[in-house]
Amino acid sequence: MKNTLVSLFLLAFLQQQVPTQEFSGLKKDPVPARNIIIITTDGFRWQELFSGADSALINAERFTPDTGTMKSMYWSSSAEERRKRLMPFFWNVIASKGQLYGNRSYSNKVNTANLFSISYPSYNELLTGNPDPSVKGNEKIDNPNETVLEYLQGQPGFHDKVAAFASWDVFPYILNRKRSGIPINAGYEKVAGPSPETSMLNEVQDAPFLEKSGTRYDALTFVAAKSYLQSNKPRVMFLGLGETDEFAHQGRYDLYLSQATKVDQMIADLWHWVQSTPGYKDNTTFIITTDHGRGQKSKWTSHNEFVNGSSQSWFAVLGPGINPLGEIKEKEQHYQMQLASLITQMVGVKFENQKLKGDEVVIW
Ligand SMILES: [Zn+2]
Repeated sequence: MKNTLVSLFLLAFLQQQVPTQEFSGLKKDPVPARNIIIITTDGFRWQELFSGADSALINAERFTPDTGTMKSMYWSSSAEERRKRLMPFFWNVIASKGQLYGNRSYSNKVNTANLFSISYPSYNELLTGNPDPSVKGNEKIDNPNETVLEYLQGQPGFHDKVAAFASWDVFPYILNRKRSGIPINAGYEKVAGPSPETSMLNEVQDAPFLEKSGTRYDALTFVAAKSYLQSNKPRVMFLGLGETDEFAHQGRYDLYLSQATKVDQMIADLWHWVQSTPGYKDNTTFIITTDHGRGQKSKWTSHNEFVNGSSQSWFAVLGPGINPLGEIKEKEQHYQMQLASLITQMVGVKFENQKLKGDEVVIW
C-alpha cells in the first residue's frame, strides 16, 4: 500500500511531455529489409556494453569470486579494449557495419519512458510504443496493448511470418498469445517441430537434473529459435534472452560478464546464418536492445523506480539499410518506446501509434 501511494505520487509528479528526437544515424528513412530479428538481453547495462568490465565490480570478491581469471579474460586499462574482449561481435562487426546508441559518456542517451524500470512494463513500452502506466508489475497478466509483433502479423505479407522465442516464461502474456495467435515458445515450454534439434532440445528440457526457474537457459532458447528460423523461415522474429538479468540479481558479476559474451556469440552465430542463407542474406535487419538498466556500484544487482540508473538503456542496429556509423557520439535523448515504430519501419510498415501526440512523447 505504501509503495502504491509513493508510486501514485511519483506518477503525478514525474509525468511530462518531451519532444522526440530523431536517431541521428537514421535521419533518412532506412531502406527497409524483408526480414527483421529483434533480440533483447534482459537487464544488461550500457556501462558494460560501452566500457566493458566495471573495475569496481570485477575487483570485488563478493561479486566476482575468481577475480584473477575474470580479469585475465576481461580486464584492460583501455575501455575500448575491455568492451572488445567482452563483446567481440558488437565491437568488431556492429561497430563497423551498424550503429550503437546509448553511450552516456558522449551524452547519447536512451531511457525507458515508463516509471517502473522492471521487465514487463519495459517490454510493453519497447514492443507497443507506449509506456502504459497501468502496466506496472511482472505478473502473468495478458497485455491489453497490441505489440508490434501482433500488428505486423496482421499486415499483408506477414501473416504466419512472425514468431517469438524467449527464455522468460512471462512472454506469452506480454505478447498476449491468446489474442495475437503468434507462435510463442517461452520458459520451458515444449518446442514444436519434428527436427532432430527440437527432439533433442525437448529431451534436455525434460531431463530431471535440470534446475528450472521462470527463465530458461538462453542457450536452449537460442537453439529453439534458430531451428524455427531454419524450418519455418519467418520474416519477423523476436528472441528474448534472460540470463544476464538472472545472474545480476544473484550478484554474480563473473557469470553476468560470461553471459554477455555468450549473448554476443549467439548474435554472431545468427548473423552468420543470416548472411549465408538465401532469402535472409543482405535482406535482414537486426535490432538489439535491453528492457531496462540497473543500479551502479553495489546497487548494480538491482533495478526499479527507486534505483538510480534503472531507466538507462541502449540499442544497436545492423542490416542492409543501416549506414555504417558505428558508435553514435551525438548528444541525443531517445526513449525505448521509439523503437516500436522503428522496428516496423525497418520492414517497410508504418506503425500507427495513437497515443503519440505530434512529435511529443509522454514520459513517466
Ligand atoms: Zn530483473
